[in-house]
Amino acid sequence: MIPRTLFDADLEGFRDSVRKFFEQEAAPYHEQWEKDGQVSRELWTKAGELGFLCATMPEEYGGVGADFRYSAVIHEEISRAGLSGIGWGLHSDIVAPYILHYGSEAQKQHYLPKLASGEMIGAIAMTEPGAGSDLQGVKTNAIKNGDHYVLNGSKTFITNGQLADVVIVVAKTDPKEGAKGTSLFIVESAWAGFEKGQNLNKVGMKAQDTSELFFQDVKIPETHLLGSNEGQGFFQLMQELPAERLQVALTAVAAAEAAWEWTLAYVKDRKAFGKPVAAFQNTRFKMAEMKADITAARVFVDRCLELHLEKKLDVTTAAMLKQWTTDLQCKVMDECVQLHGGYGYMWEYPIARAWADSRVQRIYAGTNEIMKEIVARSF
Ligand SMILES: Cc1cc2nc3c(=O)[nH]c(=O)nc-3n(C[C@H](O)[C@H](O)[C@H](O)COP(=O)(O)OP(=O)(O)OC[C@H]3O[C@@H](n4cnc5c(N)ncnc54)[C@H](O)[C@@H]3O)c2cc1C
Repeated sequence: MIPRTLFDADLEGFRDSVRKFFEQEAAPYHEQWEKDGQVSRELWTKAGELGFLCATMPEEYGGVGADFRYSAVIHEEISRAGLSGIGWGLHSDIVAPYILHYGSEAQKQHYLPKLASGEMIGAIAMTEPGAGSDLQGVKTNAIKNGDHYVLNGSKTFITNGQLADVVIVVAKTDPKEGAKGTSLFIVESAWAGFEKGQNLNKVGMKAQDTSELFFQDVKIPETHLLGSNEGQGFFQLMQELPAERLQVALTAVAAAEAAWEWTLAYVKDRKAFGKPVAAFQNTRFKMAEMKADITAARVFVDRCLELHLEKKLDVTTAAMLKQWTTDLQCKVMDECVQLHGGYGYMWEYPIARAWADSRVQRIYAGTNEIMKEIVARSF
């Protein structure tokens, strides 16, 4: 086995406490949350008290000033346990960093402590019914009118969309322009004209609230533009996307490792033709192939994590990582379902849920086709 070198005893101790927290506070309720289509707010505030939200934010803004490895532990443990309803990755390591990196001092002081405590839940709204991969085609617009902007348009597939109190919204401040006319805004869901649509009925991630959002003449104070000038939105998105893709990859590898473990236990126990399924050469070869693939993925993702900690993870490498690890995750899930036979297709089995949950990993955070485009542009 290749040991992981980035996680010392402190981090492994932290991992134990995170794991226990999820065993006690999330796993017993997750099935109910799947029926509800969202996790409880209480989980968020409990996590906030323990410093599990926005852990990498500086202490002056309510975080614990931890490095990204602590966040990685949290994302890995959520994924390993199949708790796919918990949208903290997006909240803590996507939404909060936009505010930390591009926000004014007033924006940071106002929003970051509330995000870190779980008092406010964050989302990011890029995708629209008519524009997903092609973000330059966004139609939502925010037009300046005196000391405020007027926001109109709609978004879809927004993670944490039902629970969200604060949303980073991608909008055109100059609808005639593509990337240059795009800006980001901090918008509160309680403002007049902001409406949450239905909680979307997904194939997997059943406990994750994913929603449509509608904006009709929402008045955004000009102080809620993210960044010093209009037109910086695309640049800001490009800067932040590698971290988002690393996060997806970390969850992909953790989920694949867990699925492999569940499958090993299952095939050792399940008997056919008078012997354990694990004894068939096909099973042993499949398990061996997956073990090699997952080991390679683990080394790849950890090296990228190391680069990210050194602020050296580039856009192309992050795109390769996201595409390759999520393709692998789906391949592993499919093989593992197969080795479970019919039971693998039953919702009560974790592998069935993990298989359904995995599929979207190739679609969001930039589809895997877009990842290949990014990589191909580099040579
Ligand atoms: C569960 C879930 C959660 C999500 N969470 C969020 C969120 O929190 N915030 C948010 O803003 N969005 C979110 N999304 C949206 C997600 O990011 C988009 O679905 C994704 O970017 C793809 O956009 P699209 O669905 O419009 O597909 P399209 O862009 O219409 O793509 C359709 C197909 O065409 C392919 N394609 C498109 N362009 C090219 C090209 N140039 N070359 C080759 N192939 C191409 C795509 O790869 C895909 O296979 C979420 C989606 C899901 C399902």
